[in-house]
Amino acid sequence: MIPDELKPRDGRFGSGPSKVRADQVEHLAALNPGVLGTSHRQAPVLGLVQRVQESIAELFELPEGYEVVLGLGGSSTFWDVAVCSLIERRSQHAVFGEFGGKFAAAAARAPFLRDPSVREAAPGASAALQAEDGVDVFATPQNETSTGVAVPIERIPGGLTIIDATSAAGGMPIDLTQVDAYYFAPQKSFASDGGLWIALLSPAAIERAGRLASGDRWIPDSLNLQLAIDNSRKHQTINTPAIATLGLLEAQLEWMHASGGLAGCAARSADSSSRLYGWAERSAYARPFVSEPADRSPVVGTIDFDDTVDAAWLAKSLRANGIVDTEPYRKLGRNQLRIGMYPAVDPEDVTALTRCIDHLLS
Ligand SMILES: *Cc1c(COP(=O)(O)O)cnc(C)c1O
Repeated sequence: MIPDELKPRDGRFGSGPSKVRADQVEHLAALNPGVLGTSHRQAPVLGLVQRVQESIAELFELPEGYEVVLGLGGSSTFWDVAVCSLIERRSQHAVFGEFGGKFAAAAARAPFLRDPSVREAAPGASAALQAEDGVDVFATPQNETSTGVAVPIERIPGGLTIIDATSAAGGMPIDLTQVDAYYFAPQKSFASDGGLWIALLSPAAIERAGRLASGDRWIPDSLNLQLAIDNSRKHQTINTPAIATLGLLEAQLEWMHASGGLAGCAARSADSSSRLYGWAERSAYARPFVSEPADRSPVVGTIDFDDTVDAAWLAKSLRANGIVDTEPYRKLGRNQLRIGMYPAVDPEDVTALTRCIDHLLS
């Protein structure tokens, strides 16, 4: 057992779902009975949706003409939305892990699209998008949650630039003028629960969604981005939203604004991750999995251990002490721990985690 004085105050280090702060749950309790359990077509829930949309717009300094659109199903559903409602003929995908790969696979299966162009890198390295004739959507994760690799975001000329920001949004800086769709789900950097996708859309993306929806492609309503845009303008979703998820999200957005906005939150994650990577670099038995320092994620840290350490035993022993979800991404198959360091995580708790690992291995 690890002595209590070494332990972090909060032992949740998951990469998603991730730590939910106690205030958020109190905020949720205060929404009962006024909002929870009431109609999603009436003022209390519409007001909650509108406040969340406005709070997100402020956090990201939403450029003129961009819109905050939301729907049901999480980021995985947004891949299908993008396949149906944003890709016209051919997409290009940067693939450097599971999540980027899943979006590329979804595009490859669509019978109405040409095979996508895929720029792939081995796990632990990064791949970059590149201008290419005949491509109308360029897609990359900003942070690849499966490997802990993050990349800089820049607009690629010739198509829409669409970013999977599921784990990056809120914990990393972004200039939205470089992006046409910046989409995420609330269970990572926003410390909420799953079930929703949120997309920040540029005028060009909105135009594309409208054009494809009025063309002859069959698009199921649940994947029709134009329908989601129409509903979002009225602070609604196509069907019933996850109201409790929105409540937890609203509370976290308030906390993020009070914590210095996006810059303040990104600095907190950067502080946490520099503690983790610094410890690993000094350690005799651990090292950052991502060998190129510039590629290392500030929000999801992956740490490899040498053969003298059984990382699966380590994760299990941490779990037995209430320190949970440090297991690596299951399909990566490495002797590794993966640590979520979203803004809600206290940097001091990351330092405490490293102390606990050293204690277990001493
Ligand atoms: C978690 C994650 C997803 C999947 O999100 P869901 O809301 O579970 O569908 C997609 N992309 C990235 C980068 C993620 O981290």
